[in-house]
Amino acid sequence: MPTADAPVAGTAVDGDRIAALFAAQRQGVAVRRVSFDYAARLVALERLRDALVRREADIVAALAADFGKPATEVLLTEILPVRQEIAHARRHLRRWMRPRRVRPTLGLIGTAARVRPEPKGVCLIIAPWNYPLNLALGPLVSALAAGNAVMLKPSELAPATSTLIASLIAETFPPGLVAVVEGDAAVAERLLALPFDHIFFTGSPAVGRIVMAAAARTLASVTLELGGKSPAIVGPGADPRKAARWIAWGKFANAGQTCIAPDHVFVHRSVADRLVAALEAEIARAYGADPSARRHSPDYARIVSRRHADRLHDLIESATAAGAQVLAGGEADPVARYVAPTLIARTTLDMAVSQEEIFGPVLPVIAYDDLDQVIARIDAGPKPLALYVFDRSRSFAEAITARTSSGAVGINLTLAHFLHVGLPFGGIGQSGIGAAHGEHGFRAFSHEKAILRDRFSVTPLLFPPYTPLVQRLVRL
Ligand code: NAD
Repeated sequence: MPTADAPVAGTAVDGDRIAALFAAQRQGVAVRRVSFDYAARLVALERLRDALVRREADIVAALAADFGKPATEVLLTEILPVRQEIAHARRHLRRWMRPRRVRPTLGLIGTAARVRPEPKGVCLIIAPWNYPLNLALGPLVSALAAGNAVMLKPSELAPATSTLIASLIAETFPPGLVAVVEGDAAVAERLLALPFDHIFFTGSPAVGRIVMAAAARTLASVTLELGGKSPAIVGPGADPRKAARWIAWGKFANAGQTCIAPDHVFVHRSVADRLVAALEAEIARAYGADPSARRHSPDYARIVSRRHADRLHDLIESATAAGAQVLAGGEADPVARYVAPTLIARTTLDMAVSQEEIFGPVLPVIAYDDLDQVIARIDAGPKPLALYVFDRSRSFAEAITARTSSGAVGINLTLAHFLHVGLPFGGIGQSGIGAAHGEHGFRAFSHEKAILRDRFSVTPLLFPPYTPLVQRLVRL
C-alpha cells in the first residue's frame, strides 16, 4: 500500500490541517496510479475487513450511544453490508480493473481500442447520520477498490460513531491514503472548497444541492445519494400479512430513519382493513403487545436528536389536529427521543406529513380505489429513491414498474435491494445522481479512459491531399 505521509497538526479540525491532508493525498496521486495496484488494493480491503472484525464491539457500542440502535440491527444493517462490499470487491476486482477491448469500427480498421478504468485521484466522501458506519465505509470500499485516496467526513449527528470511524481509519490506513475529518456543515463546506476529483455525498436533497453547486466550481464529478418519499403500493391481490411484515420492518427498523424506508402506503380499499390489522399485529409481534412497553423493546431504536424527535412529534400533532386519525402508536417523548411505531389514516395532501420526507416511525396508510390516481400522485412529486409493490400478480407489479420512475423497485419486499451487491443503488432526479455498490460503486470512483492504438496504418488516408477514394468514403 502506498504510504504518503501527511503532516497532521494536532487533533483540532482546522483549515490548515484539512489543507495539509489534501495536499499530501494530492501529492501521492501520480505514485499511486502505479503503486496502488491490484495486490495493494486487495491488501487495503483486507485491512478494512480486519478492522471491522476487530472493532465490532466498539461499533455496536457507538451506535447504541448515538441512537440506541439495537445490536442485531447494527450487525445486519451497518457491518454486514460493508463486509459484503469488501468480499464482493475482492472477488471481482481483477475483472473490474482489467482494460476492456472494444471492437474496431469500419472507419478505423487497423486500430486497437480499449477502455481502461483509472482512479479519479483524491475523492471526498460525506456521510449522513442514519446509517453512519455503513454509508461512510461502504463508499470507501468502492473508492479504495478503484485506487483512490479518500477524505471522509462522517456525520456530526452520530458523534460516537464519527469518533469510532476516525480511530478505526487512523489505525488502518496512512492519512495520505485515507483521512477522516470530523465536523459539521462548516467543516464540510471547507472540504468542498478543495478541488477534489470526485465527491460522493449521501444525505438530504437540500444539502445535495449545496454539494453540487460546490462541485460546479471545481468541476468535480459527483455521486449524490439523496432521499425523498418512497411509496409502497399494496394491490388488491396482495397477501396483507406478508405485505405488513415487510412494510413494518422497512418502516420501523432504525425507527424509520432509513432513506429507502416506505414513507407511506397506498392500499387498495378492498384489502385496507386487513392490511391495517396485519400492521398492528406486526408491530405488537415485533415490539411488544403492550403499547406502553414498546419503548423498552431492545429491538427498537431512538430518534437521532431532540430536534428530529420534536419534528416527528409535530408531524403527528399537526396531522391529527387537521383531521388525521391515529390507528396505532402516536406517543412521542421527544426528551427521551422516543417516537412509538405509529400508523395514521385520513391524511390529506396539504399536511406536512404528506409533503416532507417523514424519516421516522410514522406510517400514513392511504386507501385507494383507482390505481391511475395513485400513479398520477407519485408522478406529480419528486422521483422516489425506492418504490415498493405488493401483489400476488406479477403483471400488476410489472405494470407499476413500467409506469413509474424511481431509483429502485422492490416487489413483495422492502429494503432488501440495498443488500444486493450486484444491483446499482442510487436515485433519479431529486433522489440522486449516479449509483453505488459493487461494480457500480467502482465505476463511480473510476474514470473510463479511452485508448486507441494505430496497429497497421490506414490512417494516412485521412490526411490531405484528399484523394478521390477518401472523398467517396466520407459520403458512405
Ligand atoms: P444531511 O444532508 O443533513 O447531512 C449529510 C451530511 O452533509 C452530513 O455529514 C452533514 O454534516 C453534511 N452537511 C450538512 N450541511 C452541509 C452543508 N451546508 N454543506 C456541506 N455539507 C453539509 O442529511 P442527514 O440528515 O445526515 O441524512 C438524512 C437524509 O439523507 C435524508 O434525506 C435521507 O433520505 C438521506 N439519505 C440518503 C441515502 C441514500 O443512500 N440515498 C442514505 C441515507 C440517507
